[in-house]
Amino acid sequence: MVQSFEAAQQLILEHVTPLSVEKIPLTELAGRTLAEDLCAPVDLPRWDNSEMDGFAVQAADCHPLAQLKVIGYVPAGATAEGVTVKPGTAVRIMTGAPIPTGCNAIVPIENTDGGRETVTIQQAVQTGDFIRFRGSDIATGETILTAGTLLRPAEVNLLAAFSLTEIAVIRQPTVAILSTGDELIPPGETPAAGQIIDSNSHSLAAAVREIGAIPQILGIAHDNRESLSKKIAAGLNADVLITSAGVSAGDRDLVREILEEAGIQQLFWKVAIKPGGPTAFGLNGGKPVFSVPGNPVSSMIAFEQLIRPALLKMMGKKDVFRPLERAAVKGPLRNETNKTRFLRVRVEKTPTGLVAESAGDQNTGILSTMIRANAIAILAPEQNELVTGDDVDIQLLNPL
Ligand code: AMP
Ligand code: MG
Repeated sequence: MVQSFEAAQQLILEHVTPLSVEKIPLTELAGRTLAEDLCAPVDLPRWDNSEMDGFAVQAADCHPLAQLKVIGYVPAGATAEGVTVKPGTAVRIMTGAPIPTGCNAIVPIENTDGGRETVTIQQAVQTGDFIRFRGSDIATGETILTAGTLLRPAEVNLLAAFSLTEIAVIRQPTVAILSTGDELIPPGETPAAGQIIDSNSHSLAAAVREIGAIPQILGIAHDNRESLSKKIAAGLNADVLITSAGVSAGDRDLVREILEEAGIQQLFWKVAIKPGGPTAFGLNGGKPVFSVPGNPVSSMIAFEQLIRPALLKMMGKKDVFRPLERAAVKGPLRNETNKTRFLRVRVEKTPTGLVAESAGDQNTGILSTMIRANAIAILAPEQNELVTGDDVDIQLLNPL
């Protein structure tokens, strides 16, 4: 059962849902997804306050060279209780301090002589100048953030400003990562003849961490039933399991067999894409299980195109796909398959728009092309060859 790329992507997304909600402290919020709509519990600012260091005055008094009697001082952190600005008087005030009664404008200190007992005003002000009014930023009851919002430093600032300390966010999925293959040894060891370093576990873990999910590296399973069953059983405790290798033609299909024995409901075993064709998707109860091919480039493309959107959906994100953009081809870009073809390209910004050129040898065994690439070009099955002058869909892997 070979799925088209679009059908595979849709099938996966249909079968994953946002995880449960947890409350976490402010200090942990960065990069998380808000789980509920939030209304402002109070006005922001909470009270009228001064935008500048200066003098609280009555605007009508402030013709140039007017002299006002300084009758008080409201530093930041003080209240303005018992302080009243009357005609002909001024109150020294600091930025953020509450506006005293009677005051309808602030004269910034640089527009005065800074006098202590008497202050000379050097510039007129209008009513309301340099006052930040209560609720002028956000009024009580306003919806300030909606469920699904990515919490960046600005949102964290707002939540902290409302004195909220525990925030409901979507739980981050744990993602168990299992590399399979008798030839594999972990990084740090010196490979003997025929041995390959398990680099996939680490690139998958990096890709999982990059989007804010929690990787759990399970290590290496050997190509035998016992080793695979044990490691897969451990991996099924996580919210998501990703296995790498052992699913291509020529393998003994052991991964597939063991997953079936473990009760995984298989939804597909192949996708009409290149690289990444032998990618499988199944469900462990409701929990997704992915198997990606062992070839490093294939595993990264399969993650990027099929697994990453699913993890983002599980994390409650609204935009799960990297934006598609159009670029002019600096050709040729060849598909050479009747599948959806992902090509590693270098995209440059030019005065006439984005231009995409092959990043090098597109053989799936070539890792250096992946390193040189800053975008993936997506060619539809029927797009055999694109040449200079054609346009192509691209996804930027990093901002230009
Ligand atoms: P397979 O999918 O098992 O046919 O593996 C395809 C290719 O990927 C082989 O050359 C493997 O040695 C290589 N490979 C498999 N697993 C890994 C891994 N975890 N890290 C790096 N290369 C791998
Ligand atoms: Mg293998």
